[in-house]
Amino acid sequence: MTENLNLFTSTQDVIQEALNKLGYDEAMFELLKEPMRMMEVRIPIKMDDGKVKVFTGYRAQHNDAVGPTKGGIRFHPDVTIDEVKALSIWMTLKAGIVDLPYGGGKGGIICDPRQMSMGELERLSRGFVRALSQIMGPTKDIPAPDVFTNSQIMAWMMDEYSHIDEFNSPGFITGKPIVLGGSQGRDRATALGVTYIIEEAAKKRNIDLKGARIVIQGFGNAGSFLSKFLHDAGAKIIGISDAYGALHDPNGLDIDYLLDRRDSFGTVTTLFEDTISNKELLELDCDILVPAAIENQITAENAHNIKANIIVEAANGPTTSEATKILFERGVLLVPDVLASAGGVTVSYFEWVQNNQGYYWTEEEVNTKMYKKMTEAFENIYTVATTRNINMRLAAYMVGVRKTAEAARFRGWV
Ligand code: GLU
Repeated sequence: MTENLNLFTSTQDVIQEALNKLGYDEAMFELLKEPMRMMEVRIPIKMDDGKVKVFTGYRAQHNDAVGPTKGGIRFHPDVTIDEVKALSIWMTLKAGIVDLPYGGGKGGIICDPRQMSMGELERLSRGFVRALSQIMGPTKDIPAPDVFTNSQIMAWMMDEYSHIDEFNSPGFITGKPIVLGGSQGRDRATALGVTYIIEEAAKKRNIDLKGARIVIQGFGNAGSFLSKFLHDAGAKIIGISDAYGALHDPNGLDIDYLLDRRDSFGTVTTLFEDTISNKELLELDCDILVPAAIENQITAENAHNIKANIIVEAANGPTTSEATKILFERGVLLVPDVLASAGGVTVSYFEWVQNNQGYYWTEEEVNTKMYKKMTEAFENIYTVATTRNINMRLAAYMVGVRKTAEAARFRGWV
């Protein structure tokens, strides 16, 4: 049997399993297996050469029983409708895991921002908001950054929505620049949250982070900040990668130098001759492996060759269901994406709260509150997993889906 690499259907399988374990019936699965609303839009943009190009965009709103939907927008040539749907379900799970008053949402535009000018990106960002403004808003659906989108794009989107709404609406979107109501610490929140999770996981396996050998796949927003946090904590980053290749040094890489040389899309390996492949990187002898790049990296094909004791998923969907099972049987501690990367949306929530109250917190306050949410969520899910002898992904889905299921029941939907 070939492995299921479709993120959407494999997510549905785990949702079903989690709901069964929680004692919910088929009707609850019927409700939660798809987004409640899925919008596809076409966005015509005048390109710099004078020609019009029509882009396709999506916004999925998985479920708003708990509160408004929330989740990022990715700009990527490989965006698909199924991917956006799966990612919106994951946002419901993340919000449930760290106990935020949100349901999950996700958006995407099929485009390659690496090939676009700033002007084209601005017009595309504004076009996306115009196309979807009726279903988005600070109390309906709140977007944020994701793959290849950043605070500048959030600023344009917020400005466009503020014009449509005829109010200054900072709570429309999170991940904004600080001067426009962004939160202290939001740009590094995902990586910091992953760092907290790595610390907790390392304690469970009696690994001292000082001197621990760590491999990070991906050098984008999450991977680059993460390498810095772990390096500063005394860990040895022995491998990193980008879309073009990977670097390996068993004595530890010079992280400050690499951070200095990376471009804004996280590319750095092209500057070196002595590289290894991403496949080799994943199989390096190390203590902790952090996939922080793209989906379906650890599969049934390579799961047996992974040497790490702990895997912490900073990317969304890097490990297939099949590989999750193999790693569990092999005793590897795998901390799933919906838990490990929830620091981003947690600080997005703090940003939205600050926007709503018009009063802003220090970075220390933000980080202390995030630390509490992340470490409590880890402990909670770890306990569910160990007491039931199930893998942490299934445990995280059980914890994550429960709040939405309960809210839907109270509302009388099922
Ligand atoms: N895109 C991020 C995620 O996948 C953040 C979402 C948000 O901040 O709303 O979790």
